[in-house]
Amino acid sequence: MKAVVVGGGLGGLTAAVALRKVGWEVTVLERAPAFGEVGAGVGVMPNAMRALAELGLADDVRRIGTPRVAGGIRDTRGRALTHVDASQMEHVVAVHRADLHRVLRSALPEECLVTDTEVRSVEEVDADLVVAADGIRSRIRQELFPGSPQPVYAGTTAWRSVTTARFPRDLGIGQTLGPGSEFGVLPLGDGRVCWYAATVAPARHRSDHCSRSGDELGEVRRLVRDWHHPIGAVLDATPPDTVLRHDIHELATPLPTYVRGRVALLGDAAHAMTPYLGQGACTAMEDAVVLAAACARAHADVPGALAEYDRQRRPRTQAIAKASRMVGRVGHKLRNPVAVAVRDAAMRVVTSAPGVRGMTKFLDWTPPSLSLDR
Ligand SMILES: Cc1cc2nc3c(=O)[nH]c(=O)nc-3n(C[C@H](O)[C@H](O)[C@H](O)COP(=O)(O)OP(=O)(O)OC[C@H]3O[C@@H](n4cnc5c(N)ncnc54)[C@H](O)[C@@H]3O)c2cc1C
Repeated sequence: MKAVVVGGGLGGLTAAVALRKVGWEVTVLERAPAFGEVGAGVGVMPNAMRALAELGLADDVRRIGTPRVAGGIRDTRGRALTHVDASQMEHVVAVHRADLHRVLRSALPEECLVTDTEVRSVEEVDADLVVAADGIRSRIRQELFPGSPQPVYAGTTAWRSVTTARFPRDLGIGQTLGPGSEFGVLPLGDGRVCWYAATVAPARHRSDHCSRSGDELGEVRRLVRDWHHPIGAVLDATPPDTVLRHDIHELATPLPTYVRGRVALLGDAAHAMTPYLGQGACTAMEDAVVLAAACARAHADVPGALAEYDRQRRPRTQAIAKASRMVGRVGHKLRNPVAVAVRDAAMRVVTSAPGVRGMTKFLDWTPPSLSLDR
């Protein structure tokens, strides 16, 4: 059986690895002139680490990612709102996106990766299965669901980069919530730190536009001026021309199905979500393993496999997208000082109970086996 994956992002490459693992012949078509990812970090949550484990890639990712460290949320003065010890925290592995992309590519033979090829219509694609992993502005989604709503601006702009300097391990994984803004740090395996900042702002750019122009680092500095250590030091260790800025968009109207005919939508093409739970790429990786397992079990019955894929993936990913939107609303989007004070007080008391469970319940996911004898 032959699959063509449209789009060589993290979702598309994971789908290619997973489908090959169950015996499919796979070609990945990527419109860019080279395979790669932007220069920022990505948090690989435990659910996605399990998906990667099913593909035999979890150890490679763990080797380059965050060691097991403590984590927590602070206010802008550095006072803990929540704290989780390293031993209790589910292991979130932050990696440089380019490195994760490289790990996935290393599991694929060169000849199945084709660059400089933009797919304009599924009609052009000769395959038993087409995996539309062509991102938030998916052309294939627009072709198959012509009237479906476009991605909408989520009200937040975000900056990301990675430091050049290395920081001590005890930095931990941290998020700082201010009024209308947040800043987060995730240490990489080699001591460099990937960071992000987000703030409520009017829309400037389309979802697929990445700005490096202007004084983006200066804007972040102004945003978090006077915030607690080590935020200033992390920014000092960041070359200004490496800072990326994106306006955050999402598919706010859930699709009625992720499949049509021999086509499966996957990742952002199916369920582009806000990044406030760090699950966009993670759920794309989950999609990939579930799709491959369904294909393996259905043998040549592609419509049957796709119906099963849709049944398993749509409710979960749409629930995560909804929860992520909610986290943004009660997180960095709160600006009213009274509301911020109430939120912070609530976080201090409910950390170990329902509050944190609400944030972490989606991490409890186990991939289907890709070994047909299991
Ligand atoms: C600021 C920010 C922070 C984030 N942080 C996290 C995080 O910590 N953890 C997490 O899990 N997620 C995070 N995400 C979300 C995550 O980046 C996305 O969900 C994920 O990258 C989507 O992967 P994808 O493969 O579905 O799509 P994409 O990465 O968009 O890949 C689509 C690919 O398809 C190609 N393409 C498009 N159209 C065509 C065509 N017609 N023909 C051929 N090729 C085509 C594109 O060139 C691209 O390579 C974050 C997102 C943002 C904006």
